[in-house]
Amino acid sequence: MIKQKVLDAINDQIQAEFQSAYIYLAISGWCETENYPGMAHWMRMQWEEEIEHAMKFYNHIIRRDGEVELKELEKPDVDIDSPIDAFEQALEHEQYITKRIHEMYDLAREENDYPLQTLLNWFIDEQVEEEDAVNEILDRLKLIDGDGGGLYMLDQELAQRTGEEEDGGDEMNANE
Ligand code: MG
Repeated sequence: MIKQKVLDAINDQIQAEFQSAYIYLAISGWCETENYPGMAHWMRMQWEEEIEHAMKFYNHIIRRDGEVELKELEKPDVDIDSPIDAFEQALEHEQYITKRIHEMYDLAREENDYPLQTLLNWFIDEQVEEEDAVNEILDRLKLIDGDGGGLYMLDQELAQRTGEEEDGGDEMNANE
């Protein structure tokens, strides 16, 4: 069984991951409106990934006979004025999620919750990748410096993003 304190933290994190998905979807919508279909696609892939993250925590609770408690989502607070701004907001949000994951790891250690520590090891690596991916795009955007041709090329490139890597597991199914 999971200690209540740990269970509460995991349920809060499910909310945070779904909230991330919601934010990415809002940013994707902005990209569509501004005619950056590649960036919109990239953000939408991110939206999917965040749902998978939420489901990893959800499945973790189910497997350990805990009770899942879904919480309310907030209206995404995205007020974007440029592609750089869109990716900066994504980075800022990922940094917030990283901090949360680290705090949860501290809690899992304090409470001697070994299974959660193992799960969080995956998330700690994943957050390094998430931040790195966004940083790389931001570096490119800074180099492009608003140039239309450069933005068009980058947008074409981001349109190529596929389902990629992951660990091959089906995050939607607790019984795998
Ligand atoms: Mg996430």
